[in-house]
Amino acid sequence: MSAAARRGRSAQRTRGANTAPVIELEGVRKVYRSGEIEFEALRGVDVAIDEGEYVAVVGPSGSGKSTLMNILGCLDVATSGRYLLAGEDVSAMSERELALVRNRRIGFVFQQFHLLPSKSAWRNVELPLVYAGVPRTERRDRAVAALERVGLGERIDNRPGEMSGGQQQRVAVARALVTEPALILADEPTGNLDSASTADVFGLLDDLHAHGRTVVVITHDHEVADRAPRNLVVRDGLVTEDRRFVAVGGVRR
Ligand code: ADP
Ligand code: MG
Repeated sequence: MSAAARRGRSAQRTRGANTAPVIELEGVRKVYRSGEIEFEALRGVDVAIDEGEYVAVVGPSGSGKSTLMNILGCLDVATSGRYLLAGEDVSAMSERELALVRNRRIGFVFQQFHLLPSKSAWRNVELPLVYAGVPRTERRDRAVAALERVGLGERIDNRPGEMSGGQQQRVAVARALVTEPALILADEPTGNLDSASTADVFGLLDDLHAHGRTVVVITHDHEVADRAPRNLVVRDGLVTEDRRFVAVGGVRR
């Protein structure tokens, strides 16, 4: 963006000079079709998320949270409506452009970890860098640094099967952050973890947010959602509530 455009943009905004919406959804609908049967999983979602926000998406099972996350992450496209990611219209992008956006801008963490079982921790973590065309030695250095950052510097050569669930999810977090993405998306990242590992993983997400990343985390756990300054409540394919909390003396109000 040119300096003039940037000035124009911030002049239009009312919520502070350093924020710009990284995510803008307008009237987003998602219809799943199988044969004759249609199901409208998202029924018109309007949401804007600013750069650097930490947002928890909550709601009952089947309400459309994962569908929303898949669209935010460019893993799937809306049936109708508009999605602007960092100001760019995602609906107009080709499959190849979407893959580039996913690789460059977004780090994903899923409930099921999605690690490759035959590969060591650092080989799993370097994968997004392979797709990004980063040279081999740099890949290893960055993968090891990412694993150190999540407290797994001693486990770089272990395969997923040799690690606990909590450690596997930390490997997945390292893989999500190794490309230094602006946006971290996590879909029920602690759904399969015990409470100690849950605390670890949320500590890592808090840390990424503290370092300026935009974090959107889906959870059905209200205790977990309580950590985030903003909650979006999804019910029956709609965002029914958008709650913002202000921390006062470290206590959320
Ligand atoms: P949540 O993550 O909140 O549990 P989902 O986004 O996974 O909800 O699903 C929302 C609704 O869409 C559910 O009723 C689910 O059965 C339906 N759904 C999800 N994925 C598909 C699909 N690929 N085909 C058909 N229906 C789907
Ligand atoms: Mg889900």
